[in-house]
Amino acid sequence: MLTAHPIAQFRKNPRFYLMYDGFWFVVCAAVLLTFWLTGFTPLIDGPSWWFAPVFPVLLFCLIWAHLLIHNATHGSLPRAINRIAGELLGILVIVRFASWDIVHMRHHKYSDDRVLDPHPNFPSFWKTVFHTIVHVEKQLFQQYYDVWGDTPENHGRERRRAWMSYGTNVVLLATWFWLLGPAFFVLVFIPCNALAGLFVIHFNWSTHNGEAGKTFEELHPVNLTGPWYRLGNKLFCGIYAHKMHHDRPTLFNPATALAAELAQHPADPSHQQAA
Ligand SMILES: [Zn+2]
Ligand SMILES: [Zn+2]
Repeated sequence: MLTAHPIAQFRKNPRFYLMYDGFWFVVCAAVLLTFWLTGFTPLIDGPSWWFAPVFPVLLFCLIWAHLLIHNATHGSLPRAINRIAGELLGILVIVRFASWDIVHMRHHKYSDDRVLDPHPNFPSFWKTVFHTIVHVEKQLFQQYYDVWGDTPENHGRERRRAWMSYGTNVVLLATWFWLLGPAFFVLVFIPCNALAGLFVIHFNWSTHNGEAGKTFEELHPVNLTGPWYRLGNKLFCGIYAHKMHHDRPTLFNPATALAAELAQHPADPSHQQAA
């Protein structure tokens, strides 16, 4: 259980995702009840001047949380900690590990399919952002129907599951709010999480050739090697070598593998480079 892959559980048990979010709902509700019964006062008062230097540090950590969750979905952290790390970091970035896993496995299966990719890219970055936020929940529904059948009963089940997920979001955010205090929550925690999410969407858009691709046909995984992306690879364990990631998804740092391959076969045209 503690090492199981959420998508494997999702495929085995039609009630998995409802129970999964239900579990986190109960955990958060229990924490909130404890806070209430003990008269817990938030850890951080404020606003304070030190929120400003903490902001970029937390943002960097939240981006790394997404990167480690991504690695955990591919099982490329040490086997014993993939699930635990994914779960804890999933709570920190609010979206939770199972949804990251289910959506991301679907992305690898259907990448750049405009209908079936859970977060297809558009030549316009902001259109991609809008579409990703609005349609990702729909893709979770679709994933469920693909596995368990597109029936009226399953539509009802998925609607109930979605209500549970929304409720879990509410109690999870309330828990962070009470723990951190209103000032830090509103001025630092929420904006950092929003920016980290935006960073992940930009990463997905740029590495599917969003900057150079002017039509849908030109959107596909690429290895980005421009100066900013080289810096990004150094800071974020090679994420911009994304074609390499799609070819060999279990590598922790695809940019290192790409550099090694380029050193061996410098003229190989399959190592597409872009700005
Ligand atoms: Zn991709
Ligand atoms: Zn991946």
